Amino acid sequence: MSAPVLEISRGTLRSNIAAVREQIAPSELMLVMKDDAYGHGLEWAVDAADGVSWLGSYDIASALRIRARRRDARVYAWATSPGDEVAAAIEAHIDLGVGTLPYLREVIAQAEVLGTRARVHLKIDTGLHRNGVRPEDWPAFVAEARAAEERGVLAVVGVWSHLAEASDDEDDEAAGEFRAAVQSLRDAGGEPEVLHLTASAASWWRPELRGSLSRIGAFCYGIRSADGPQIPGVVPVAELRAPVLAAGDEVVEIAVGSFDGLPSTLAGAGVGTPAGTRMLREVGAMTSLVETWPGASTGDLVTVFGRGSQGEQDATSLAERIDTVGEEILLRLTPRVRRVSVD
Ligand SMILES: *Cc1c(COP(=O)(O)O)cnc(C)c1O
Repeated sequence: MSAPVLEISRGTLRSNIAAVREQIAPSELMLVMKDDAYGHGLEWAVDAADGVSWLGSYDIASALRIRARRRDARVYAWATSPGDEVAAAIEAHIDLGVGTLPYLREVIAQAEVLGTRARVHLKIDTGLHRNGVRPEDWPAFVAEARAAEERGVLAVVGVWSHLAEASDDEDDEAAGEFRAAVQSLRDAGGEPEVLHLTASAASWWRPELRGSLSRIGAFCYGIRSADGPQIPGVVPVAELRAPVLAAGDEVVEIAVGSFDGLPSTLAGAGVGTPAGTRMLREVGAMTSLVETWPGASTGDLVTVFGRGSQGEQDATSLAERIDTVGEEILLRLTPRVRRVSVD
């Protein structure tokens, strides 16, 4: 073996999911699987998370890949998407997140052509300004959705939004806007089955903001927030390992580099070796140099990030060194890094 490997643990994903569920109950978990399940591999994560009944993908193409493996789950796609994709999603019973009036009209039009009901979750913009209907436009938006529901081409099954998580005060204000939007839908005769507002951090720490559903990605994969604490019961699912190619008196050369997606600015970080933590001295294109240890030899494995068993840090700790988030360390890894599933 002379190439890096991302080892992904099914058992760890499952135990993280169990810890998250216990923390957020009675709110239900929607496992977020965008970006190829945060770089772990979408199909792998869908299979490993076989007990989770709500699965969230950003785009419709990924939602259809999830549906192909899980006939029974609720699958949720919230990217504003072209009509042909919307039609495919409706046929595959994908729930759609709808955050603009033109998109609502597109979904309704596609459902009318198919002669069926599209399941939608309406998005109120509670201040993040990413997508979502502003409170002043909400009543008209709700009225169109309700009219389509009365005509039998729409089912308004949810209301949702996304928190900025910049400050508790802002999040409280956003939650107020959210509750008002839900009330306004109910006043218009709507009966949403699920309400969802929070992602990992707010779902974990702000119970009062949780809806009946919580959309959680990072914590299920064991990625803690940058500058945030360790999460009890939640550990990294993925470990990046590279074999030693050559061992010298001062440094060993390992088979991972910036072409594999390892940021070259990580030089100086601690990595895990059979003798414990050693410094990553230099990140090259295809290989990197690590401080040596007694008895170091070709074929030894160095863990660049992981659960700490060799003295390595988690991906978020590496990310903090270079002012980014743990997700980015995982998502930068190229297809050259083979994913290997373990129990
Ligand atoms: C990514 C994302 C989530 C999950 O966020 P985490 O912090 O990874 O739990 C939830 N909702 C939306 C809309 C997202 O884009």
